Amino acid sequence: MTRRLLIAGNWKMHGTSGALAFFADPGINRTYAGIDRLICPPATLLRAATEAASATGVMIGGQDCHAQAGGAHTGDVSAEMLADAGASHVIVGHSERRADHGERDATVKAKAEAALRAGLTPIVCVGESRADREAGREFDVVGEQLAGSWPDGGTGDTVVIAYEPVWAIGTGLTASIGDIDAMHAFIREARGGDQSLRILYGGSVKPANSGDILGRPEVDGALIGGASLTAESFAAICLAA
Ligand code: PEP
Repeated sequence: MTRRLLIAGNWKMHGTSGALAFFADPGINRTYAGIDRLICPPATLLRAATEAASATGVMIGGQDCHAQAGGAHTGDVSAEMLADAGASHVIVGHSERRADHGERDATVKAKAEAALRAGLTPIVCVGESRADREAGREFDVVGEQLAGSWPDGGTGDTVVIAYEPVWAIGTGLTASIGDIDAMHAFIREARGGDQSLRILYGGSVKPANSGDILGRPEVDGALIGGASLTAESFAAICLAA
């Protein structure tokens, strides 16, 4: 089965309104056959990014959502609010949310279920720490996160998984091709061999390494932090895909 590649950018806590010039860049405004493109800007830019991206074919997503649709949750944003602002996807369980906000698998699962409820595609992040890998526990850890974070009612058509080894995020280090192949195959197997499920790789993906990574049959796209911040490098990765 051929799965369409998803090239997703996570801008994290970077960017004010000037960042929207990204969507006017010629590299963003060209046609890319056979791939889906997504940018997840800060929540403050969601509506404006949706408008700025409207003619480009780039989809817009949130970086997190609350599990509830609304209520007394100061500072939080619901999946319904993201959808109302034009989002089609939302990242949940990013390792920075798990580390900075103490998010556990049950919370990530509830957020992914909220995304489905609101008609969004959750991108559920899993990945081992350096200590886990050094201890040879990477499959145990990722398997546990996957089982605990997968939303009830989710299918390979409605959920995306991002495998992001924590030690590779923002460090310039990437997992070896062999390790990426092995983990992606493990994740698909853990999901019953579901051929429709898209499994992205994330962790220091850059124009220079994206061709090799995205060329692997078990890699269905990338979740990209730093290299998604400029139109030039994001477009170069899309071209390599
Ligand atoms: C990320 O934030 O999900 C990520 C993979 O970041 P970077 O590409 O900068 O490593």
